[in-house]
Amino acid sequence: MAKEELECSFCGRKKPETNLLIAGLDAHICDRCIEQAHGIVLEESKQSDSSDLSAELKLRKPLQIKTFLDEYIIGQEMTKKVMSVAVYNHYKRLLQPPSNDDIDIQKSNIIMVGQTGTGKTLMAKTVARMLNVPLAIVDATVLTEAGYVGEDVESILTRLLQAADYNLEKAEKGIVFIDEIDKIARKSDNPSITRDVSGEGVQQALLKLLEGTVVNVPPKGGRKHPDQKFIEVNTENILFIAGGAFDGIERVISKRLNMQAVGYSASISDEVVDQDNLLQYIIPKDLKDFGLIPEIIGRLPVLTYMNPLDSKTLRAILTEPKNAIIKQYKKLFAMDEIDFTITDGALEFIVDKAIEYKLGARGLRSLCEEILTDAMFELPSSDEKKLNVTKLYAEDKLTKTTLKKLKAVS
Ligand code: ADP
Repeated sequence: MAKEELECSFCGRKKPETNLLIAGLDAHICDRCIEQAHGIVLEESKQSDSSDLSAELKLRKPLQIKTFLDEYIIGQEMTKKVMSVAVYNHYKRLLQPPSNDDIDIQKSNIIMVGQTGTGKTLMAKTVARMLNVPLAIVDATVLTEAGYVGEDVESILTRLLQAADYNLEKAEKGIVFIDEIDKIARKSDNPSITRDVSGEGVQQALLKLLEGTVVNVPPKGGRKHPDQKFIEVNTENILFIAGGAFDGIERVISKRLNMQAVGYSASISDEVVDQDNLLQYIIPKDLKDFGLIPEIIGRLPVLTYMNPLDSKTLRAILTEPKNAIIKQYKKLFAMDEIDFTITDGALEFIVDKAIEYKLGARGLRSLCEEILTDAMFELPSSDEKKLNVTKLYAEDKLTKTTLKKLKAVS
């Protein structure tokens, strides 16, 4: 065949009619056909994306979900177990074939109660990572009732859309983590006639989202206004996880436990109440007494708690999770061919300081940063290829002033 007669084996265009003709073994393909084929590949991979979830779930039963969580989260056994079941059931509900037996599996939205820094956000992040679904983390304190200064509750879905790269189908199967849900509790126990802006009104607005509804969402966020285009988002299959510290709820729990002890149902008095960790006895009624409206509590049916972090847990958080802080530093130093090691004594020292200055798990990172900054600055341009951080080294780098500074920012 003469060279000029070459043609695309897919569309038949002659070589001069194409911009580019690529030769294969026995065939040729032109630029247009390549682009078309590429489009088909993208379309196909989009479709297989949505079936990923079912494949993921076929693979992971609650036990496997928990094993995955174990890799990233230290302790918090109860919450990991409860979470594994809730997540499993939620996605099972999502994958159920249509049936006419009238049994409607309800959503298993989750609420986690626990002090700040105990891993609530981490829990939501890890679940989203495992399922490979988009995650939006929102702060309940910025939400207000429509018409007030602040963000409408729909903004939550804008975030989720953004996290899903505006892929609506993905967003509708995503996870929303609402942090600081306790901050929208009703301030006083008696429902007043004038509704408070930040509290009950927001709870009311959240209700529909939690339950499942179609919401007009401004894709770029901001206030709704008449000429803005909306994306309709169905929240039916979105998993909502709420978290909050619920400062002072221990008093509510303790009061209830004491009343039970003197009342007829004295069952709890038979056991020894662990006064140091009252959260483990939490029941939905305590949330109501704290100021969440019963409807919200009903739509967050899975209630679980986070244990406070003791020194053993903090120590493990430093080195054990898959992306533990110390492992991260090791990797960073290794990029400069520096062999970074840290002694047990130094690790214990860091944990002690985190506890002494009440810095929590979040403080571990800042403490390490303070200790290692000099080394990270100097070593890459020096010949020294080894760094062994001992307790003495750590003590030397962490002066009282830096500790005070850390406490101030935490
Ligand atoms: P919360 O949402 O409860 O305030 P976070 O999830 O943001 O807490 O946790 C703060 C930091 O502490 C994160 O960097 C997280 O990795 C770490 N952390 C907290 N608890 C744990 C835990 N149980 N296991 C591993 N890391 C933890």
